[in-house]
Amino acid sequence: MSDYPPYDPAQDGFLVKEITQWCIGNGLVMLNDAQEGLSAMHAPVTTYPTNYPKEALEEALSIQTTYNKLYINLCQQKEWIESQLVDLAQLDPSFTGRLVDIYNRLKSEPDGFPQKLTGGLFRSDYLLDKNQNQIKQVEFNTVSVSFGGLSAKVGELHDYLFKSGAYAQKPSGKLQISKSVGLLTEGLAKMHAAYGNKEAAVLFVVQPNERNVVDQRLLQYGLAESSIPAFRVTLTDVRKFIERRDDNTLIHQPSGKEISVVYYRSAYAPTDYPTETEWDARYFLEKSTAIKCPSVLTQLSGSKKVQQLLTSVETIKTVSPSLSAQQIQSLIKSYAKIYSLDNPDEKVKNLALKDSLKYVLKPQREGGGNNIYKEDIAPFLEKLSEDKWGAYILMELIEPAEKTNKILRSGKIHHGGIISELGIFGTGLWEESGSEILFNEEASFLLRTKLQESNEGGVAAGFGCIDNIILD
Ligand code: ADP
Ligand code: MG
Repeated sequence: MSDYPPYDPAQDGFLVKEITQWCIGNGLVMLNDAQEGLSAMHAPVTTYPTNYPKEALEEALSIQTTYNKLYINLCQQKEWIESQLVDLAQLDPSFTGRLVDIYNRLKSEPDGFPQKLTGGLFRSDYLLDKNQNQIKQVEFNTVSVSFGGLSAKVGELHDYLFKSGAYAQKPSGKLQISKSVGLLTEGLAKMHAAYGNKEAAVLFVVQPNERNVVDQRLLQYGLAESSIPAFRVTLTDVRKFIERRDDNTLIHQPSGKEISVVYYRSAYAPTDYPTETEWDARYFLEKSTAIKCPSVLTQLSGSKKVQQLLTSVETIKTVSPSLSAQQIQSLIKSYAKIYSLDNPDEKVKNLALKDSLKYVLKPQREGGGNNIYKEDIAPFLEKLSEDKWGAYILMELIEPAEKTNKILRSGKIHHGGIISELGIFGTGLWEESGSEILFNEEASFLLRTKLQESNEGGVAAGFGCIDNIILD
């Protein structure tokens, strides 16, 4: 679609004003300075919604509850997940290992798991493979999934631009508006209800320098609509504001409210634990009657290593025996090839060292900026002794379909080739030491778009923004 969106600098100037002012008027913003927190700017967005194939969106939406179930079930299959945790801890002792330590410590204590229910707000991310015209999963996120709030706002922005006559050339196709903010809020509200104390409050555990606060606040505002209070606290400040009673209930001070759900928008990266205070806080929260969203075990289940193990049909059948053959088939169809580098055979070694232009190397980390791409893989691995390779997985690069769009960032429009990553949200509540699943739902979509950087051959750096879908 070379003529969509139109390249018209005169129109661009008009759109910049339309969009920046709509964003400010409607809260599609990020803080300028997280510390000061008094002013905000429009979030980076596309000026037009991006074309996306209907079948691909429908497929991604329809397999979400199967993915949710797979990850829920694997946390319930204690024998399997615990044996994987031993390996995970060895491969990455300084971070993953410490999370595993918390789990093991709780397990060794008679009252280590005072809450049998665990909650999940998940997001499964995909790129559309241009050769097969097929969605391929990039990763499955089990902790701190973001942009569920702002995704819905971008849909409303594009809808406004449509209806207000701002587009000189009206895109054809059906505009989608993500329902993620309502559905994720509903997920949290149902966890809160399952806790069983109507007077209790939800605790958001957040990063101290968060600029993407509105994305999180939208969920909090949604909870308030249902008269569910919520408080925000950093991991560092947990012990200042939260008391744990002898019966393991958490009490927020000064409100005196009991905590029903601990919702993590932090605690997933090494930088979230600068000192022992934060590690202590994580253990403190885990050992409580509050429903953790997610528990440390569920967080660990989202590791890249587990994702690699789940590409085997045998493993899927072991961890989630009640999935039908058709459900398993739909999962396998959405997988890209992933190889373990733990004792790799010659074939896999050669892929990593000699054929690396087709691959990305990923460590056991979340949150972006950790991957090693293509020609950088061989020199990186050669410097690393082979017994340390197992900490990484080798994943085939998905070649995304290329489109054109305009990105508005810090008041400036960038027009060019783009690639888009689709995220599908999911919600769930289940017995972590048991087999019951109380709910498992799909929770609408997010489209993130980046300007394509030719020297990275489809793996764009920078210029990421929130986008929205118009169906082909
Ligand atoms: P993180 O946990 O850091 O978010 P991801 O696995 O999502 O790690 O990788 C970060 C980014 O790298 C993705 O958003 C995507 O743009 C790119 N990427 C990751 N895996 C692939 C892949 N197999 N093919 C192409 N691009 C990829
Ligand atoms: Mg990611």
